[in-house]
Amino acid sequence: MPHTICLIEGDGIGPEVTAAARAVLDASGAELTWLPLAAGAAAAERFGDTIPEATLEAIRTHRIALKGPVTTPVGKGFTSVNVRLRKTFNLYAAVRPVRSLRGIRTRYENVEIVVIRENTEGLYSGIEHEVVPGVIETLKVTTKAGCERIARYAFAYARSRGRKKVTVFHKANIMKRADGLFLDCARRMHEEVAPEIALEELIIDNGCMQLVRDPSRFDVLLMENYNGDMVSDLCAGLVGGLGVVPGANIGDEGAIFEAVHGSAPDIAGKGIANPLGAIGSLALLLRHLGELGAAERIDAEIERVVRAGQVTRDLGGTLSTEACGKLVADGIAQAP
Ligand code: ATP
Repeated sequence: MPHTICLIEGDGIGPEVTAAARAVLDASGAELTWLPLAAGAAAAERFGDTIPEATLEAIRTHRIALKGPVTTPVGKGFTSVNVRLRKTFNLYAAVRPVRSLRGIRTRYENVEIVVIRENTEGLYSGIEHEVVPGVIETLKVTTKAGCERIARYAFAYARSRGRKKVTVFHKANIMKRADGLFLDCARRMHEEVAPEIALEELIIDNGCMQLVRDPSRFDVLLMENYNGDMVSDLCAGLVGGLGVVPGANIGDEGAIFEAVHGSAPDIAGKGIANPLGAIGSLALLLRHLGELGAAERIDAEIERVVRAGQVTRDLGGTLSTEACGKLVADGIAQAP
């Protein structure tokens, strides 16, 4: 049975980068069909909701989606689209592989990090209130179940990919209870799931300093939601920026794949966005579905075009979004 993939184009550069990913999938020969769905600011204009019920229902049914970045309209009472999707489908693990690509000039070589971020709780609980005028409280919600779940996922991931070390970034010296719980769960899941893998614990400020000093010393990074949001973008900067890093949001009831970048309104509609993060996310999706051959071909083509210097403006090239996607697609179509 061919799989049906829910496709959310999103806002800003979303339609441009997802069109490129779509062209690549069509060339890959993988037997998948697309189901276009609305979400984000454009959906709010058309349907009065940032995530229409039909979109939720389709994801519930097909359990897998490729998503462009979405904008949540500000000041209209909508909660973040991404947070809502992650909570609705319990997509508790954000997985972001960050690797050096030969051909992109950066300060570092040999970066091969996977950031695993808890995706449903922490500071992104969305619970804020005004205690007294001029004083706002934002709740950081940390549960034992949530911490165990993400730690178990991280160690199982590391083991299944032959990784050697998981480093936990935390702030348990200040948030003794919340991050202390996160750390405690990581230690226990390490023992339970993969004691043969090294466990390293770093206070996050030191971790960030170590990351920019020598990222090649890191392997898998595990952290809670807010820290993971920041560190994912930091890691993207180590390998060429937001345009090249793919991502997956994984849960027990489904998975949504999307690049790390946002809707980038400053370059939207200009045809200059880098589609490689979205195309790489498609490769992650295919791997998730067991279509390993197609996934490997896509990754190999991404490496080939970058090595040849055929890149978009953010990486110092001149290619348009569409031309970049077409190069990858053509390379796949011609591959033996
Ligand atoms: P969000 O809050 O949704 O993460 P943001 O504004 O913080 O959004 P982005 O929308 O990702 O972040 O944009 C940050 C910067 O990176 C912008 O200058 C944008 O143009 C650039 N950028 C993001 N994605 C790409 C891309 N695919 N190709 C080229 N430049 C990009």
